[in-house]
Amino acid sequence: MKVLVVGGGGREHALCWAIARSPRLTKLWCAPGNAGIADSAQCVAISDSDIEGLVTFARDNAVDLVVVGPEAPLVAGLVDALDAAGIKSFGCSKAAAQLEGSKGFMKDMVAKFGVPTAAYGRFTNPADARAFVEKQGAPIVVKTDGLAAGKGVTICQTVAEAQAAIDECMVGGKFGDAGAEIVIEEFMTGEEASFFAVCDGENVIPLVAAQDHKAVGEGDTGPNTGGMGAYSPAPVFTATVEERVMRDIIVPTVKGMAAEGHPFKGVLFAGLMIDENEYPKLIEYNIRFGDPECQVLMSRLKSDILDILDGAASGTLDQVKPEWFDETAMVVVMAAKGYPGSYEKGTEIRNVAAADALDKVKILHAGTKMDGDRLTATGGRVLGVTARGNSVTEAQKRAYEAVDKIDWAEGFCRRDIGWRAVAREKN
Ligand code: ATP
Repeated sequence: MKVLVVGGGGREHALCWAIARSPRLTKLWCAPGNAGIADSAQCVAISDSDIEGLVTFARDNAVDLVVVGPEAPLVAGLVDALDAAGIKSFGCSKAAAQLEGSKGFMKDMVAKFGVPTAAYGRFTNPADARAFVEKQGAPIVVKTDGLAAGKGVTICQTVAEAQAAIDECMVGGKFGDAGAEIVIEEFMTGEEASFFAVCDGENVIPLVAAQDHKAVGEGDTGPNTGGMGAYSPAPVFTATVEERVMRDIIVPTVKGMAAEGHPFKGVLFAGLMIDENEYPKLIEYNIRFGDPECQVLMSRLKSDILDILDGAASGTLDQVKPEWFDETAMVVVMAAKGYPGSYEKGTEIRNVAAADALDKVKILHAGTKMDGDRLTATGGRVLGVTARGNSVTEAQKRAYEAVDKIDWAEGFCRRDIGWRAVAREKN
């Protein structure tokens, strides 16, 4: 099978690493890829936003399956364009991508399907939004309708904070078009986890859950980032929780989307809030693998990933049952100093091969490039140091041993990834 992966971050390196293990694979490309991906795939210089370029490449090279990593090309309609050209792909249509692309659409859909989620209102007029907040009181959550790179959500402790957040979005135009419409939600409490399920439009199979750390600083402090680390399994995600998530959240969504005429194909990533009685509520849907969660999922996956991806693309998922290593996988993200603010690019990273050679360790690249024979950093999040172990504590120890082998003076990482799960293990 000839496969093209679209994207060039850590998630796509994890996907290419897993796909390259498949006995079904005959050729693997990645567009645009990165320096680490080049070890398992042939990188082609086509941007993930160049829909026409990607379709032409897939057609000219008789690609059997296109696997779309990031959300932007899905929201822009890459899968629709591939479908029109008769090319099979893993990913959802532009219409189904609105589950991530528009929070208002997502909330309306799941409310219709009876999925447990925060009570909400949708607003295009700031006066109505302010009146709603006055009535509901605080704490309350204000969200831009459109994609805002994880920055469009404000948790407001007071009504005044909520009024300010409304004004920033709708009057100040802080998020441009993404904030012209907003969603205001009830504040939920509990422990968060991410759960992944793969769908073929009709059938849906559970993958596994993970937990991530969004804040840049230790103890989950400081500004939010794309994700500084993750681990799987998530101890909070018990078998009872999984059963409830599938029954009350995932299955009704997949059935509902099909009934709406927007069957969901690809990976459904549910952001969940789990209360102390093990009842889950949906926070958000994403329509792609998480980054860095994908890195730990691919580290734990025992089965052939192409059976899963091709099963979703071909409508034969009912025949697929993924198997997983029981071990815990953890990824520690190494980022350029200054991230998520401004940071230097082009700095050299040494000794990655020595870290990669450690047992049960894999270094997955996010923002790297070869400059002659030097490996250099090109982005904020640069490497995902991924390790497996018999416990969270052991996976964490291995991951930091690998981190310590890497010589990159201009980089940093959090030293406490998995702290909550490690504390649970000690008790
Ligand atoms: P990302 O894609 O980066 O996760 P996003 O912009 O899509 O973020 P959400 O996932 O909806 O936004 O929210 C981001 C975070 O805000 C959540 O992970 C959660 O911690 C918090 N949050 C969102 N909605 C609520 C809510 N209703 N109650 C409590 N916390 C919430």
